[in-house]
Amino acid sequence: MLKYLIKIFIILIFFNSLTFAQGIQPVLLNDTTTVPRIIDQSQLADSIVADLFQSPDSVIVHVPEPSEKAMSFYRSGNYLYILNLLLSFLIPVVILFTGFSAKIRDWAAKLGRQWFFVIGIYFAIYTIILFIIYLPLSYYIGFIRLHDYGLSNQTLWKWFLNSIKSLGVTLAAGSLFIWIPYLLLKKSPKNWWLYLSICSVPFIILIILIVPVWIDPLFNEFGPMKDKILEQKILDLASRSGIEESRVFEVNKSVDTEAVNAYVTGIGQTKRIVLWDTIIDKLDEDELLIVMGHEMGHYVLNHITWGILIGSIGTFIMFYLVYRSSGYILRRFKNRFGFEKLEDIASLPLFIILIGFYSFVGQPFANGISRYFERECDKFTLELTRDNRAGAEAFVKLQHENLSNPRPGPIYRFFRATHPPIGERIDFFNRYRPWETGEPLKFDHLFR
Ligand SMILES: [Zn+2]
Repeated sequence: MLKYLIKIFIILIFFNSLTFAQGIQPVLLNDTTTVPRIIDQSQLADSIVADLFQSPDSVIVHVPEPSEKAMSFYRSGNYLYILNLLLSFLIPVVILFTGFSAKIRDWAAKLGRQWFFVIGIYFAIYTIILFIIYLPLSYYIGFIRLHDYGLSNQTLWKWFLNSIKSLGVTLAAGSLFIWIPYLLLKKSPKNWWLYLSICSVPFIILIILIVPVWIDPLFNEFGPMKDKILEQKILDLASRSGIEESRVFEVNKSVDTEAVNAYVTGIGQTKRIVLWDTIIDKLDEDELLIVMGHEMGHYVLNHITWGILIGSIGTFIMFYLVYRSSGYILRRFKNRFGFEKLEDIASLPLFIILIGFYSFVGQPFANGISRYFERECDKFTLELTRDNRAGAEAFVKLQHENLSNPRPGPIYRFFRATHPPIGERIDFFNRYRPWETGEPLKFDHLFR
């Protein structure tokens, strides 16, 4: 459940790719859990060269048409999203309605004997069964598909090792914490949802605190930036935006992917900006500074803290709805389920279904707030750097490198887009120049 709980929390706090499984959370880009890169560098070079012949500042950088490959990646990604969504409901429904969940509980009871261990062992068996069921799909999405598009650098061994590590982290963390909701269910059948919502706040803060220092390094190497001259320029920009300490890290992602990204993670002492080494290779200096300015926006505007705050309200509403509906469903189907009380660990798939359902319903709202944060940061970096051209060109490169569809359809935007469409962002980078017309700036009071 922990993995699902974490997933739900994170969905609710709008950083839905911060999962143990991925280790890395793209904050800058579109949905990049499966990001490849486009190979057609010549086309990219052409569009930039064409623009360079015009006057430097006023020039409009055009949004390139996506290649057939990018569109095929987009369309197949949507089908896979739907398949994944259906499976995420179907599998726990089958496990629940066939009475298989009650069987797993019986096995766990035989092995564990004591309440605490029974709960932990049930969780471990359930997680391992799901891991095996999902393995072929994970292998296709996380390995085969990316290589098919000519995009991933990951060896099969590294992919497999990462999957096993994710499973290990989930098992360890889940077995350690899964007793908390079940203890609350046992002790307080009417108010558990309230106590669980309250407990979840320090819990999610703890996760965000430790992920950058304990979890992420299990999957990739993190360190200070290698290019010291570039690092100094980034630190100067950081200092101008009010970030005094050195909080910029480089991660060795080129062993896994050709995609590019940067993101903000952590909280308090572990708060930091992380750059994939691929983005350092593929963007030129001005473009990289624009991207860093965007991430500094997330940092300075405390978006992670805001996310936790708004997410906590979402969690509160969600657990209340789960509380209201779970009792009703259990009364109706308890004979098929093979258990009578929600405090029975066999109810885990029921909670997973309900949490999944309410998070799905809440997702468009969460996406809307996330897109608002992203637009704020695009504005932040433009006001900080005033480099419209580098901004627009950086995002043209990101579109190419990550095979993005610059103008996705309305259904995608409603259910999936945590970031504004990249085409709209390029348009914004071209357009937003209040300093030229004397209009007030939104963030200049934060700059030094
Ligand atoms: Zn962002």
